[in-house]
Amino acid sequence: MRGIVQGVGFRPFVFNLAEQLSLTGWVKNTSGGVEIELNGAAAALDAFVAKLRAEAPPLARIDEVQVEATSPNGYAKFEIHASQPQPGAFLPVPADMAICPDCRRELFDPTDRRFRYPFINCTNCGPRFTIIRDLPYDRPNTTMSGFALCADCQAEYDNPRDRRFHAQPVACPRCGPHLWFEAGGQRLAEKEDALQMARAWLKDGKILAIKGLGGFHLACDASNPAAVEELRRRKKRSDKPFALMAFDLETIQRHCEVTESEADLLTSNQAPIVLLERRPTSTAAPGIAPGQHTLGLMLPYTPLHLLLLEPEPGFPDILVMTSANLSEEPIAYEDEDARARLAPLADGFLLHNRPIHMRVDDSVARASMDGRPYLLRRARGFAPGALTLPNAVRPTLATGAELKNTFCLAREQYAFLSHHIGDLENYETLRSFEEGIEHYQRLFRVRPERIACDLHPDYLASRYARQRAEEENLPLVEVQHHHAHLAACLADNDWTAPEPVIGLSFDGTGYGTDGTIWGGEVLVGGYQGYQRRFHLAYTPLPGGDQAVRRPARMALAHLRLAGVEWDPEIPAVGALCAEERTVLASQLQLRLNAPLTASMGRLFDAAAALIGVCERATYEGQPAIELEALADPQEMGSYPFQIEGEIINPAPVWQALLDEWHSGAAVPTLAARFHNSVVRLVIEVCEIVRRESGCRSAALSGGVWQNRFLLERAVPALRAAGFNVLLHRRTPPNDGCIALGQVMVAAHSIETN
Ligand code: ZN
Ligand code: ZN
Ligand code: FE
Repeated sequence: MRGIVQGVGFRPFVFNLAEQLSLTGWVKNTSGGVEIELNGAAAALDAFVAKLRAEAPPLARIDEVQVEATSPNGYAKFEIHASQPQPGAFLPVPADMAICPDCRRELFDPTDRRFRYPFINCTNCGPRFTIIRDLPYDRPNTTMSGFALCADCQAEYDNPRDRRFHAQPVACPRCGPHLWFEAGGQRLAEKEDALQMARAWLKDGKILAIKGLGGFHLACDASNPAAVEELRRRKKRSDKPFALMAFDLETIQRHCEVTESEADLLTSNQAPIVLLERRPTSTAAPGIAPGQHTLGLMLPYTPLHLLLLEPEPGFPDILVMTSANLSEEPIAYEDEDARARLAPLADGFLLHNRPIHMRVDDSVARASMDGRPYLLRRARGFAPGALTLPNAVRPTLATGAELKNTFCLAREQYAFLSHHIGDLENYETLRSFEEGIEHYQRLFRVRPERIACDLHPDYLASRYARQRAEEENLPLVEVQHHHAHLAACLADNDWTAPEPVIGLSFDGTGYGTDGTIWGGEVLVGGYQGYQRRFHLAYTPLPGGDQAVRRPARMALAHLRLAGVEWDPEIPAVGALCAEERTVLASQLQLRLNAPLTASMGRLFDAAAALIGVCERATYEGQPAIELEALADPQEMGSYPFQIEGEIINPAPVWQALLDEWHSGAAVPTLAARFHNSVVRLVIEVCEIVRRESGCRSAALSGGVWQNRFLLERAVPALRAAGFNVLLHRRTPPNDGCIALGQVMVAAHSIETN
């Protein structure tokens, strides 16, 4: 059998099933899967195979079962044999799973021997990927290897009828990891006292670094505005929202609206951060998510987090739980590194001695219209779950994009898309990228025979790819960013049909084949190739990144191109002083440090700045996010873009927006109409392509599709117009999907196939 069949209670399940049906023989893990030999009556054997799939344990995923006949070998009973590695074979590794209901019950049961033990787990839950050093997944290959099992734990571990049979991280207060509390370099408390000290400090408004499952969090009382502001100051993070954690669903419901599918997502085994509509009555400090009406909340996914958040009168019911790092650096996960890097950020440390082998951030998701999760960051709980590909590929490494980087290793019909690595802008993140690639290569036994990367000449990920391709003499496939978006969305939807698809690849930035910055792209094609059928008109990006941080500069560049006067009454014009405008004007005229862009993300930035929504962007996409938050959901009006040849010209939209602004239209109305205009554009271009080439499917990929207002209007409108809409399902629409797309494009490129 192949699939996710190790570390998920599969062998005890097989053992019990065999006993139940009076079959003899054995089961063993191999690094290629699970092997079972059975002797018994034909009817019992058939029943076994049927039940194998029907009754498999909750975390298991069976991809393949091969059945062969054998002669009776005279086994007296059914046994579980020791693991046998097979060189070269591979096996999907289970992701870390949130604490299960049984462990949770035992955690709060005073008669249980693991009562209030922060590291309780079983075959159905607990750490996996973050503690695995190598395969096969057995205790000596995990970071639990240093903890010798006590007699009681050993008995559970050896008993196939026990929930903890072969649960590799099994532990108890007597033999397992434990907590302690540190501040100012002093160890102040141990175990339960450490936990209570941490809680007292949090209640007091202090900021703590807490070692969790895949790394450290910075935590503080989310209802305490001073604590939240102090955390922002120390983290040097101005407006980007903080994630929150609450003890249970009922608490979350006090702070946010929670639909049924959102509740399912919150309480799932993956337990991601879920973006929820904030209730006006929520006590969350305004500084948690400035300019937004959503909050990102998750439930405690480890026993430690449950104990930390245990309700008590006077204790905060929601805590900030944000990745412990300085802005842009990767999450801290090693004790020494955390002590050094987090000392200026945290008042105290809640630590434990179970090492984290692989750092993994929390995943972020939203419930999509059809109730399925729509991932915005694919990490804990999802990675490194293997994605099945629509076709088998040769061993490939794809190095992904620059921002929100993930890499991807693929072999046969499996893609191991990495957890979220982060923005490859500094040494720390690059190191975690390189270490991640090595770890995945070893775990999944992938020896790349070709390498795929982004076309961008300067991306660190592309440089790494080029260097490796040269050193190892491997073919290199450079993939255009927006083509990778299209291919990723197709692969995510198991697309195998030969007909071309309309790729609505809308994002902030991506290197184009003409050396400009693309991002408002309507492509027609598939894995093999694409035609750039439409794109937004090129607009100068005055000052490059400067125009991203000051969206008013982008707005003024657009106005100049549209032939609109810079009237200081217009909010975006007024946002820049006369001197800034003079410099900007000559910059635009002389094309000094003003690369051309067709970016849809920057179009949203310009729209937001134009009507005075966001003057300074302190994180990627902020103007668009604030514009979306303001958009009036009742408003249906829209403006037309002008389409000439392959160029989409926004000039008429700017003109209409300004006319209405001058006649006193409210900002929420204008914000909604701008969104609706983009929806209208989408329908128009798709209909043209359908007339031209009969395309009936549209793939929505790129960071712009994280915009819920846009997505929830564009999708029904496309469907109503008769289009088959392909949305990301297992990968995020943002650049977290790029590596998967690169794998697919490389697999279909003629040169290397
Ligand atoms: Zn459990
Ligand atoms: Zn024990
Ligand atoms: Fe992108």
